[in-house]
Amino acid sequence: MTQLFHSLSEWRVFRKQNHFNHKTIGFAPTMGNLHDGHKSLFERSLNENDFTVTTLFVNPTQFNNQEDFKNYPKTFEKDFDLMKNTGVHYLILPTFEELYPDNFLYKIIETNFSQMLCGKHRSGHFDGVLTVVMKYFQLIKPTRAYFGEKDYQQLHLIKGMVDAFFIDTEIIGCPTIRSESNLALSSRNNRLSTEELKLAEIFPKILKQKKSCEKISEELTQLGFVVDYIEEHFGRRFGAVHLGNVRLIDNIEL
Ligand code: AMP
Repeated sequence: MTQLFHSLSEWRVFRKQNHFNHKTIGFAPTMGNLHDGHKSLFERSLNENDFTVTTLFVNPTQFNNQEDFKNYPKTFEKDFDLMKNTGVHYLILPTFEELYPDNFLYKIIETNFSQMLCGKHRSGHFDGVLTVVMKYFQLIKPTRAYFGEKDYQQLHLIKGMVDAFFIDTEIIGCPTIRSESNLALSSRNNRLSTEELKLAEIFPKILKQKKSCEKISEELTQLGFVVDYIEEHFGRRFGAVHLGNVRLIDNIEL
């Protein structure tokens, strides 16, 4: 049974109870509209910890595009079923007012890698991500926290934040879960038309070709993608493209 916390104050009282003494807590935050990618994080956490905590909150401070924020799919019943069936112990549902009593006056800002790749194209995105994750770490104090490699830049920045601020949480990167056609699962895939989905399925195939970033970018553009970037860093190739008003990201090890 997944225990639901509708308020952070309720959670904070619960977190202080002896109940958690000498127990390990695994944590995987989400914005909902869950799929097998999220499920894989829960399963890993359940395997490695006594308790697993998740949050479901569409964090407005990480959206640079208000339309994208407003259109973010909300599928609470289905999400809650997946959490219950997977065995997640605690779900916290914060509100903006509770989570941001300072109205986002205080931020965690990384000044180098966060300005590249997705950060370059989504101004302020990682300030919102790092700030909300820091808040979660203070509230939950997890032993381990699980993040998907699909959002590799996010994973890398969170690892850096934990080191920089001496946070006693181990950050675990989990492999990207893909559809049969190799498309990285994402909540945004549901917004693709049938035609766009067919094209989207080609994106990972093109990304992993042994060609230069420039060639890959050209090929994607010819096929009808609007390319934000194709770049290589730390032995990985990163790509972000638009199909209609849906933005897809992916990355692969070279
Ligand atoms: P989101 O709900 O999109 O904020 O994602 C919550 C967590 O799930 C993040 O750590 C993501 O990196 C992770 N995640 C999303 N999609 C996938 C996927 N296809 N495979 C593995 N992890 C994923």
